[in-house]
Amino acid sequence: MQKKFILVINCGSSSLKFSLINPVSSETVLTGLAEQLFSDEASIKLKLENKVIEKQIHAPHTHNIAIEILVQQLTELNFQEQIFAIGHRVVHGGEKYNLPTLINNEVKQTIDKLSRLAPLHNPANLTGINACEKVFDNLPQVAVFDTAFHQSIPSKAFIYGLPYELYEEHAIRRYGFHGTSHYFVASQAAEFINKPIESCNFISAHLGNGCSITAIKDGKSIDTSLGFTPNEGVMMGTRSGDVDSGIIFYLVNQLGYSTEEVNKMVNSKSGLLGISGMSNDCRTLEEAMTGEPNCRATLALTVFSYRVAKMIASYTASLTDLDGIIFTGGIGENSMFIRSSILSHLTLLNFTVDEDKNKQARFGNKGKITTDSSRSCWVIPTNEEFVIAQQTQTLLSSTLSTKTVGQ
Ligand code: AMP
Repeated sequence: MQKKFILVINCGSSSLKFSLINPVSSETVLTGLAEQLFSDEASIKLKLENKVIEKQIHAPHTHNIAIEILVQQLTELNFQEQIFAIGHRVVHGGEKYNLPTLINNEVKQTIDKLSRLAPLHNPANLTGINACEKVFDNLPQVAVFDTAFHQSIPSKAFIYGLPYELYEEHAIRRYGFHGTSHYFVASQAAEFINKPIESCNFISAHLGNGCSITAIKDGKSIDTSLGFTPNEGVMMGTRSGDVDSGIIFYLVNQLGYSTEEVNKMVNSKSGLLGISGMSNDCRTLEEAMTGEPNCRATLALTVFSYRVAKMIASYTASLTDLDGIIFTGGIGENSMFIRSSILSHLTLLNFTVDEDKNKQARFGNKGKITTDSSRSCWVIPTNEEFVIAQQTQTLLSSTLSTKTVGQ
């Protein structure tokens, strides 16, 4: 049987997302999610073109059990024999990895060491790698790092205004995240304007529950708003983004908060949720603005749009040319209100939204949303899974051809 699929795995602390993708035809034949792992409610759902399969994940409800059930299902559906590699999303590659990397023991050790920079993500990613190793023992596994695309940012953008020793001795610097998403939408926008990506200049805004803005010069990331952790830059669903660091000390020293409480506050209780006091979901807040307008929902969305617009404008300092802005992520792909509101702050940069086009570019539809006389702004649905499959395939073909040449 011809082996044509790559299994893409994105392992979180209590979840496991997966897709089965043909990287050549770019067809996704199956997607799915195992969630609420480590609880009695743990379940796994597989979605095919015209079928949904749902199973409970039995005790001990782990990633390993989820992957065993996934393999059983793939076998029953006749896909198992057609998989030739596994591509893993790995959040933190530190300064070591700027490209997709074939996983071996040394790579696993490095991912493990980098867990101190991404304590919520890298250990989970490693769990997924180990679980796949057990059941797909002879298949190559590739790590595609979320930080890799941003390894091209120059020191003036990644060094903090802190003692330099913190960088030298503790690797404290800007790393950035969502790299795979920014790379994908930039490549798509380059196709829109029929230019090689190497000569494209964009500002891409990934606006989902997590948000980041990236300046892309000649196809490369040269600055990005998420930093040492995924809580820098613009405000997000539950994360504060930039705040005066003095507030943290005030909370701890004057108001008696513990550092753990502050950590939880800035990561899980702030952003859209914190300001609105209602929800981190943009849809809920947009609904709350209509009818009997809710002031805090309105304020939350207004602050959000303004902060994103300011970050976008600040990146004109990083670029000498700008082909356009790209919106992606759940909010960027769907919220015409937020997009319109962001662009309304950018009239000095000659952005004018076309509301008809803005309305059309939603729910998976891509397209330009600005008027003919405006600078361009596009909505492009992201597809990180496809990039992971494509980069896994590219790496494996080049490894194979290098070996052949070497023989
Ligand atoms: P993501 O993290 O990329 O999945 O994005 C999740 C966020 O996208 C949700 O929290 C919503 O706030 C937002 N979102 C999804 N659909 C819509 C929509 N139709 N209108 C506004 N916001 C949306």
